[in-house]
Amino acid sequence: MRDFSYHRAGSADEARRSAALPGAMLLAGGTTLLDLAKCGVTEPEHLVDITRLPGLDAVTVESGRASIGALAKMSLVADDADIRRHFPAVSEALWQAASAQIRNMATIGGNLMQRTRCAYFRDPAAFPACNKRAPGSGCSAIGGITRNHAVLGTSLACIAAYPGDLAVALVAFDAVVHLGERTVGVEDFFLLPGDTPHREQAIRPGEMITAVSLPASPAAHRSTYLKIRDRQSYEFAAASAAVGLELASDGRTIRDIRVALGGVATRPWRARAVEDALRGRLLDPETVRAASALAMDGAVDHGANRYKIELAPRVVARAILSMGEPA
Ligand SMILES: Cc1cc2nc3c(=O)[nH]c(=O)nc-3n(C[C@H](O)[C@H](O)[C@H](O)COP(=O)(O)OP(=O)(O)OC[C@H]3O[C@@H](n4cnc5c(N)ncnc54)[C@H](O)[C@@H]3O)c2cc1C
Ligand code: SF4
Repeated sequence: MRDFSYHRAGSADEARRSAALPGAMLLAGGTTLLDLAKCGVTEPEHLVDITRLPGLDAVTVESGRASIGALAKMSLVADDADIRRHFPAVSEALWQAASAQIRNMATIGGNLMQRTRCAYFRDPAAFPACNKRAPGSGCSAIGGITRNHAVLGTSLACIAAYPGDLAVALVAFDAVVHLGERTVGVEDFFLLPGDTPHREQAIRPGEMITAVSLPASPAAHRSTYLKIRDRQSYEFAAASAAVGLELASDGRTIRDIRVALGGVATRPWRARAVEDALRGRLLDPETVRAASALAMDGAVDHGANRYKIELAPRVVARAILSMGEPA
């Protein structure tokens, strides 16, 4: 770990100015940043501590919209009564992320800015080839062990899966990322790897996430997050789905549906083909299972991750059908 300077920012403006310096990085909960610095993946020259910035940790739901401050802790948001009531998928995604200790330290902004968990990315000593870490150096995962890698949205340059849970729920319900003056729809905030996989988020030097907001809706109100993983805690998703459902007055016809996938794509993945196939249809298991298969349109496997192509539609179907059950 190389030497770096440390500075605690007193205001958002000061944090942004400091973050624009070459080699500067923001420090929030530190649960990802310090790990990456220790294993030599990131080498900050200046750490700008934003943990004590006032006013960035509030969570409010009013006028049909939730606003979640970037410095709100994951555990606090997961347990917020209004978030649980109006956006259960958001609360459930946060509860199933990481571990209790990490959730108590980690922030919403830091969660959206976390980097890939590709094992090759995190081991520069053993695997110097990684286009995400060193643009143009190649990809050690392609032809390597790919069990945790993506099947959707990949490129010849990178096949790393997006690791987070919260963003999957945010993508399903059209959240917006607030970057001070600028806002970006959360789907556009996460970039496909293409031939520039080192750029994972649409944030510019000197910008800072201040909040995320999302509109309340009947589908967000009746929503869930289903995460399938190798063990029940402290584990990233093999496949996950955030689903929201609005039924017509007959209680059987789907008026609105939202579906987003985690663990299988290079960014949080909105499954619009599934939504389009189900809107206006009756909620019955056969229809739901057939439509859920569309979530894998365009999927390409790399050997050991082939199981995800079968697993993900089952996760989607199970999540949708669980929402159709009487409360
Ligand atoms: C063992 C382990 C298991 C985990 N499992 C999961 C999981 O299952 N699901 C999941 O979703 N996550 C998981 N995580 C990731 C965890 O959620 C993140 O480490 C955490 O959310 C990061 O938040 P932080 O506040 O600690 O960020 P930091 O580590 O402080 O920062 C992370 C990055 O975000 C940048 N940053 C922080 N705040 C801002 C801001 N406001 N604006 C712009 N940039 C900012 C930093 O500069 C840094 O680059 C796991 C982590 C670990 C270590
Ligand atoms: S999959 Fe992406 S992150 Fe992993 S080694 Fe290849 S380029 Fe690097």
